Formats: sequence, structure tokens, C-alpha cells
Amino acid sequence: MLKHLLSSWPLIQQIKTGADGTGTEAMSAKTRDLKPKHDGAEATPSICPYCGVGCGQLVYHKNGKLISIEGDPKSPISRGRLCPKGADTYELHTHPGRLTRVKYRRPYSKEWEDLDQETAMDMVSDRLWESRDHTFQEQQDGDVLMQTKAIAHLGGATLDNEENYLIKKLFAAGLGMVCISNQARI
Ligand code: SF4
Repeated sequence: MLKHLLSSWPLIQQIKTGADGTGTEAMSAKTRDLKPKHDGAEATPSICPYCGVGCGQLVYHKNGKLISIEGDPKSPISRGRLCPKGADTYELHTHPGRLTRVKYRRPYSKEWEDLDQETAMDMVSDRLWESRDHTFQEQQDGDVLMQTKAIAHLGGATLDNEENYLIKKLFAAGLGMVCISNQARI
């Protein structure tokens, strides 16, 4: 018993192996038996939603429940690393303080109110159309313009090529907006 205790003591392990005490020789049996919280969970590859770098993530889930989100070692972009924002993506989904309803503050009001999504989308499209109606320029100094500079669109960094194509088609070709950009360029 004493012999076993002594031989498992990290200091004895270190002396026996000649290692520098930063590897497995420094681990107690308890530490060696620890498992990561995503042990046994299924991993689905994804991309960090925060910025245009597009670091690879592994989304671990078990029985339909999100377990953790870690860096993907196979990503050629980030090779398993995530910055502090990306490393907190799990809380983006799970934090009790995250907003899950559309919030709206009426003009001159001090209070935020909840709106259902359909009402909010109708309000956005009504205002978009009204602004376009009031500001659309068909001509300037005899030249054809067919544009509005009164409305802008800033896309998110993880919009894919197809989504950006549709955004450009709808907002530029459809509505005549010229102020269209994407967070990935910043
Ligand atoms: S982990 Fe950080 S650097 Fe990478 S995509 Fe996310 S926010 Fe950007």
C-alpha cells in the first residue's frame, strides 16, 4: 500500500522518469481519470458566428442537448484555436440573460417592449419601402440614377456566398440601394 502510494506520488514519478514535471508524471490518479465534459458526445463541425476570420468549431451535443463548443483542430483557418469571444460561443446559446424576443422602443418612449417576430418584420419592411419611396432618385442632372442612399445594409460575417448574392440582388438590383457592406470587410 505504502509502496503504491509512494510510486504514484508525482514527485517520485518525476524522479523515476527524469521528466521536468510538466507532463503526465505530474498528474495524480484523480487528475488522470478526469474526462472532458463533452466525453461521449457527438461533434458537429461549424463556424464561429462572431467575425470574418471564420474559425472552425466543434459543437458537442448529446441526446439533443448542447454540451459544449470547442475549437476544431481540423480547421485550416484556426487549427483548434478560438479567441475569447469564440471560446464563449456556448454561452451565446445558453446564457440565461440572452434575449429571445424582439425588443422595440417606440419613439420618445423610455421602455422597451416585446414584439412578436412577424409584427417586427412587417414594421421593418413597411419602413424600408416608405424610405425608398421618399428618397428614390430616378435622375440627377439629366443622368439616370435609379438609386437611394437613404437605406444601408451591413451583413454579418458568417453570411455565406449564396446569402450575400441574394442580399446584393434584392437590395441593389431590386431596391436600388447603393450602401451595402459586410462586417467581414471590417
Ligand atoms: S474565434 Fe474569434 S477570431 Fe475566430 S471567428 Fe470567432 S471571433 Fe473571430
